[in-house]
Amino acid sequence: MNIETIEADVLCAGGGIAGLMAAIRAADLGAKVVVAEKANTLRSGAGGVGNDHFSCYIPDVHGNNIDSYLKKQVNSPRFRSLMMPEKFWRTRLEKSYEMLKLWDEWGVPMKYHGRFEFAGHTVPGQEASSMALKYSGRNQKPVLTKQALKRGVEIFNRVMVIDLLTNDAATGAVGVDTREQKMFIFKVKSVILGTGMCMNLYPSATPAWMFNQHSAPGTTGDGRAMAFRAGVELVNMESFGKGAGPRYFIRSGRGTWVGVMRGPDNKPIGPFVEKPHRRYGDPILDSWPSLCEDYAIAGKGPVYMDCTGISDEDLEYQNYWLGHEGNTALINHLKEEGIDLKKSAVEFMTYGLFSRGGIFHNENSETSIKGLYAAGDEYVGQISTAAVFGWLAGENAVKYIQEQNPDTEIEIMQEKIDSSRNSVEEILGRENGASWKEALIALQQTMLDYAGSLRTEPVLSAGLKHLQRLRKKAKKTLKAENHHELMLCLGVLNLFDIGETVFLSAIERKETRGSHKRPDYPFTNPLMNKMLICRKTETETVVEWREPSK
Ligand SMILES: Cc1cc2nc3c(=O)[nH]c(=O)nc-3n(C[C@H](O)[C@H](O)[C@H](O)COP(=O)(O)OP(=O)(O)OC[C@H]3O[C@@H](n4cnc5c(N)ncnc54)[C@H](O)[C@@H]3O)c2cc1C
Repeated sequence: MNIETIEADVLCAGGGIAGLMAAIRAADLGAKVVVAEKANTLRSGAGGVGNDHFSCYIPDVHGNNIDSYLKKQVNSPRFRSLMMPEKFWRTRLEKSYEMLKLWDEWGVPMKYHGRFEFAGHTVPGQEASSMALKYSGRNQKPVLTKQALKRGVEIFNRVMVIDLLTNDAATGAVGVDTREQKMFIFKVKSVILGTGMCMNLYPSATPAWMFNQHSAPGTTGDGRAMAFRAGVELVNMESFGKGAGPRYFIRSGRGTWVGVMRGPDNKPIGPFVEKPHRRYGDPILDSWPSLCEDYAIAGKGPVYMDCTGISDEDLEYQNYWLGHEGNTALINHLKEEGIDLKKSAVEFMTYGLFSRGGIFHNENSETSIKGLYAAGDEYVGQISTAAVFGWLAGENAVKYIQEQNPDTEIEIMQEKIDSSRNSVEEILGRENGASWKEALIALQQTMLDYAGSLRTEPVLSAGLKHLQRLRKKAKKTLKAENHHELMLCLGVLNLFDIGETVFLSAIERKETRGSHKRPDYPFTNPLMNKMLICRKTETETVVEWREPSK
């Protein structure tokens, strides 16, 4: 294995929206910045093929009373179930306009026909307070990559960061090339984690097509897993979400459709719209994300997104935005199959479970370890969140370096580097063994059956034991034929670590909250209006309660 040591001030692990924004800001402030990206920053991650809603607060549009918008966010069911600190949301609101102005300047069009356009994710009667700004994000990644390179950021594509190097602070990381026999030691003063969501912990809604997931399947919770192993606090790991969209053609973007959700009786399911309306879409799926699944269980399905009766202009409008929302493949598929949305409704389904907890960071993007920052889907998703907290991570990493002049001696980390290298070489060196696929199938089956939609203490405890046994086996037997398979094996091992935190947290949250359903504790307990922190000590994994600070 060739080993290359890279020295810099800041390492951004992950070159998605958050990672690139962090890199741009840190470089602006004079730091030497490197980005290590598992794929290629031009098209990688959840934002890789575009997004079309930038949730934001624009004083000229929304007025100066930011508090009423803050209240709306904090009280929404999603954020209530995450119990997140209010300061976090205030910061996002306050900074979102600055970010969108920058993006517009750099070449990501934030206006439509010369004006701010708000549509989708909006309930009739509440249009004036909508924060769902439409923007043309298809090329956001090439634009951000260009901005980073322009500032001298060095990007290492096809490099998967596999372990953090920390003593009492973050001093670097280890990475592997996903194609060549090469390992990287990043020797830096601060590390920013922006490796995105944790997909693939649960099976796809089409299990035979494992990577048919609603978000980027290459984001396997690597940042969370390596942070956890380094003793960093994770939060609300028991929480999970469900998406909805076209049946079997799994893709996010439900708020971009301009149709009406109807049952087989052709009646609108929700109370919001009766015919296609470009301003609203059908907000029923925001209020009821598991609608299609609940209908199926109740024997009331199928459920359709019905665009019939839509005007030509509105259909063109919808397709324009679906193209920016990473749904080009879907539009092409409909065209190839001769499906005309003006004539045919499209069946929708609830997409499988995805893990929602993440790395706990505050409004300055600081994690529980000095010099280590996190942003974006590492904690809580959405484009503007990734942009704002990525930016702040870059800014605060540089401030930390300037104020504390941290030691970059990673020689004392040699033991850790050797251990990472040994595990990699073991996986590559085995003559016989299990494939990443076998291990992933076993893990996903366990997660679905024991930590899925219904969770009880005995089932969770049995599942935890099963997972721990499987993880041991995977560690002992996984085998990769090449570096691409190595990346997949390491991703699965990370998912095993995350899976364990999900079980431990789900056992501890003895209540029903949002999608975390405990038939043995069937109500939401106000005494548990708290965050659940999960962290590893030298000897054990600890799960503890924390008040969300105001
Ligand atoms: C189809 C679709 C539509 C969406 N639409 C919207 C929308 O309209 N509005 C909105 O607000 N949000 C939307 N989202 C969510 C939004 O895209 C994400 O919240 C956002 O991209 C998060 O940015 P991020 O940088 O945290 O993660 P990502 O953009 O996913 O970037 C993570 C990066 O880390 C890399 N990586 C992962 N592991 C490693 C590793 N070990 N080492 C190195 N690199 C690694 C990945 O390859 C990836 O490039 C949508 C998502 C999807 C999938």
